[in-house]
Amino acid sequence: MSSPDPFFTPVSGMDLPRFAGVPTFMRLPYVPEGHPRFAEVEIGLVGLPWDGGVSNRAGARHGPRALRDASTMIRAQHPVSGVRPFERRRCADLGDVGPNPVDMADTLGRFEAFFARLDARGIRPLVAGGDHLTTLTVLRGIARKEPLGLIHFDSHTDLFPPYFGGTALTHGNPFRVAVEEGLLDPGRMVQIGMRGTAYDLADRDFAAANGIRVIPIEEFMARGVADVMAEARAIAGPGRTYVSYDIDFVDPAFAPGTGTPEVGGPNSFQALEVVRGLAGVNIVAADLVEVSPPFDTGGITAWLGASILFELLCAMG
Ligand code: MN
Ligand code: MN
Repeated sequence: MSSPDPFFTPVSGMDLPRFAGVPTFMRLPYVPEGHPRFAEVEIGLVGLPWDGGVSNRAGARHGPRALRDASTMIRAQHPVSGVRPFERRRCADLGDVGPNPVDMADTLGRFEAFFARLDARGIRPLVAGGDHLTTLTVLRGIARKEPLGLIHFDSHTDLFPPYFGGTALTHGNPFRVAVEEGLLDPGRMVQIGMRGTAYDLADRDFAAANGIRVIPIEEFMARGVADVMAEARAIAGPGRTYVSYDIDFVDPAFAPGTGTPEVGGPNSFQALEVVRGLAGVNIVAADLVEVSPPFDTGGITAWLGASILFELLCAMG
């Protein structure tokens, strides 16, 4: 973007207080498909209000609305880098992709088709989930031609075999399925923050068999953010890379509003610091998933999630 366009500039809290007005992501203009300026968007913020892939505690379908509301607190400039992302790229709230809450196949198809249309227009998505199965629909929409690298923050690998003895997709297996479908290059995948009790090691076995790098929380804490993120950047390399951020990466003391919390995780400073460590990565799309407002306390998870979305936007370059 050559010079900031007033249309794509968020509403300033100096012009209208941040608690006033209709909330969009980061107070950006609402530019749904069909809007006359849709084709000008470079980075589109999208909500996927759906949690049909959840196997335990639901509620992430309410994530996008809570994240929009919290994100009205975001200002124009990054506190450390000084980046002003809304002047660097034309950003807009593209709205939610409407799901069918009682039909998984229909919903996944709608989401995938939407992201394929964005990809055809060269609009990079920044997605607010939704449960983690929604990530598979973004990958199916944008990565069918060429597998992507992946930098993934989570307390779980989400490489598990199907649950309940079936063949079903769940929020526990999007990355296993994405590898099987050729949407991700396992040699350019790194997963960071894994912890918690398990049924077995089926996910770790899949990672080892495919050459996927898993960095458990003990290693993350021992090495520190800078060292771990240097390795993550090296694994992703210069190629096209997806960044997926499950809010349950963060310790539930800082992010209680999620369906599958695991204690003993990073604090909210480390939660932001890892995203700052993505500078220079060739990010083609990113998401923040699994915020479940019914389990939130005082909106702290939504506020952290909105802050992570801003960090991801700045990291997208
Ligand atoms: Mn998780
Ligand atoms: Mn996950």
